[in-house]
Amino acid sequence: MNKTDITCDVVIVGGGLIGTTLACGLAAYGVDVAVVDRITPENIISPDFDGRASAIAHTSKVALEGIGLWPIIAGETQPIDEIRVSDRPSLMFLHYDHADLGDNPLGHMAENRLLRTGLVTLMHQTQGLTVLAPAEITEVARTEGRAAVALDDGRTINCQLVAACDGRASATRTQAGIGVTGWTYKQQAIVTTIDHERSHDGIAHERFLSSGPFAILPLKGGHRSSLVWTEKSALVGSFMALDDGAFLDEVAERVGGFLGDVSLVGPRFCHPLGLQVAERYMDTRLVLVGDAAHSIHPIAGQGLNLGLRDVAALMDILVDAKRYGLDLAHSAGLERYQRWRRADNLLMAGMTDMINRLFSNDIAPVRMARDLGLAAVNSMPPLKRTFMRHAMGQVGDLPKLMRGEALG
Ligand SMILES: Cc1cc2nc3c(=O)[nH]c(=O)nc-3n(C[C@H](O)[C@H](O)[C@H](O)COP(=O)(O)OP(=O)(O)OC[C@H]3O[C@@H](n4cnc5c(N)ncnc54)[C@H](O)[C@@H]3O)c2cc1C
Repeated sequence: MNKTDITCDVVIVGGGLIGTTLACGLAAYGVDVAVVDRITPENIISPDFDGRASAIAHTSKVALEGIGLWPIIAGETQPIDEIRVSDRPSLMFLHYDHADLGDNPLGHMAENRLLRTGLVTLMHQTQGLTVLAPAEITEVARTEGRAAVALDDGRTINCQLVAACDGRASATRTQAGIGVTGWTYKQQAIVTTIDHERSHDGIAHERFLSSGPFAILPLKGGHRSSLVWTEKSALVGSFMALDDGAFLDEVAERVGGFLGDVSLVGPRFCHPLGLQVAERYMDTRLVLVGDAAHSIHPIAGQGLNLGLRDVAALMDILVDAKRYGLDLAHSAGLERYQRWRRADNLLMAGMTDMINRLFSNDIAPVRMARDLGLAAVNSMPPLKRTFMRHAMGQVGDLPKLMRGEALG
């Protein structure tokens, strides 16, 4: 063993939103972790790194409170009080109001940069957490007895368990021989932020345009919104190449006039869209978490929320194992995690896929059927409440952290 080598309980490969949340959560409960990312925290929080904002479901917010992130960022988040779904050109719409279920908002919008900045702050405050970035992984060696992650600077991190949080293109997953099923949507999401004259009043809008869904998501302050414009991949290049004036015209036409005058804030980004699910979530001393395990269409704003559920479920299992002095990579624990999370993630992947296919086409009978469907759901309060509970993350077998309970 080299004298600069590190030993810890869990190595987290990938310091994205999921990897850093898992790191802060585990370390807060006494599990020693090291997080490795090829990008430094300073670059990850720069304004041109990630212009997205995420819809955080109510139960995800509860989990983020539990790990101490929410108090750092709460003042900059925006409650979502209502969601309005409409299908152009018919303008048939479905209206979700949080008041139909109680006092809690349906969710909160948080800019990803805010989440990332908050997580970097929390990592600095947390004991038992080592950040290794920038660092490139050269080898992940796993045997029944131990795991070791070799870095390009010559160091090795010895651990009990490797958590692959390295995103959709996870090299750790590929190296472990874990296959994926999935497809691309031939769609990309153009993401940008706008300021607007009138207040959004805490209402999120989802419009189904012929190219795909167009979301207007309320941000803190009342007069700023994040846009997720799903467009056919073949057309995205030409929209991204427009000068700011012409791009703003395209944006304003899609937003419509209800927010008054609009202007662009910051850069635009585009993200290719696809669905991908890993065939299994575990291998010897390895577990997949977040987008490394499942990557879905952002139509319902659920990808990060599913990853946070993975984090909370894995924390339930690992914190217990640590407390009882068990091997953190014990197969019974990892199998429980896989059973718990795979079914839930597959269900959401299937639902988002179906909704996107249903709403991203202009075939007249399909349009008529979906409009009737929207109207029917809108007129059935029990069904509407069920959909709202899904959006709030209040269904299924929730891990303790998402129920607001302490672990251990
Ligand atoms: C347009 C859009 C809008 C979205 N909106 C929402 C929303 O409103 N609500 C929601 O819940 N979800 C949303 N999502 C989904 C959500 O953004 C993702 O599910 C989430 O960001 C995945 O995080 P992750 O940490 O698992 O993966 P990533 O963000 O991909 O992070 C992976 C990390 O691993 C690092 N890495 C990769 N390979 C290596 C390596 N070999 N060595 C070291 N480090 C490595 C990368 O640098 C990166 O930091 C949206 C997605 C898109 C595309």
